[in-house]
Amino acid sequence: MTKTMPLPAAVRVQELTRTYDVAGQPVHALAGVDATFVRGTFTAVMGPSGSGKSTLLQTAAGLDRPTSGRVFVGDTELSGLSETALTKLRRTKIGFVFQLFNLIGALSVEENITLPLRLSGARPDRRWLSEVVDRVGVTSLLQRRPSELSGGQQQRVAIARALAVRPDVVFADEPTGALDGQTASDVLALLRSIVDDHGQTIIMVTHDPVAASYADRVLLLADGRVVADTPRLGVDRIAAQLASLGRRQETAA
Ligand code: ADP
Repeated sequence: MTKTMPLPAAVRVQELTRTYDVAGQPVHALAGVDATFVRGTFTAVMGPSGSGKSTLLQTAAGLDRPTSGRVFVGDTELSGLSETALTKLRRTKIGFVFQLFNLIGALSVEENITLPLRLSGARPDRRWLSEVVDRVGVTSLLQRRPSELSGGQQQRVAIARALAVRPDVVFADEPTGALDGQTASDVLALLRSIVDDHGQTIIMVTHDPVAASYADRVLLLADGRVVADTPRLGVDRIAAQLASLGRRQETAA
């Protein structure tokens, strides 16, 4: 059974935990995370390696089940869903952008972009698709293969693919990690404009303070918990926050 909630949240997680069993020892990747991601906002999730960023992304996106706690995507609570219903929800409500683009080499750019629609069995909204393709600037590349594109162009195609189903939320995992500085800033400006112009919601894991400075909010994790939740910050302040977290961890170790 699905439950509704009144908040204008694209995603909400409550008391989220995820414990892995590593050689008989529990590893608490998430140790109780509460967060609401309001529609039309861009959040950067940061923190040291091993702090739980990927696990948060995976559980919030329904790719992995939490050990305890609740995840809502739009109005739907994920824990009540069967695997089939969860797959359907992922295909219709969620877009993904990965560090290494994850495009399918044997398909054209156009086929890559429309793949999620075909998988979900939805009828393509041609108007929306051409708007998305135009927005990310790949209209002239539609018949090409991914291998014929630069990294920045491939990431633009991946962003169009993520938006094709008009998802409630786009999860991005280090989307600029494989790009050079100028290309990265073009892609980040594109993500920013998709939030500003289309009211899209983006949750992006990054270790890069420059990338995080494009977000409305920085959620900082350490040891599976949220240790800071700050509105839009400049690059220097984000870097200082990360550095002070590093120092705290060194002192604690
Ligand atoms: P981050 O993305 O911030 O680097 P992760 O979410 O990948 O952090 O990992 C958080 C913790 O959970 C780490 O200690 C990591 O080793 C552990 N972990 C993550 N995935 C697994 C897994 N599949 N099996 C066992 N331990 C895992």
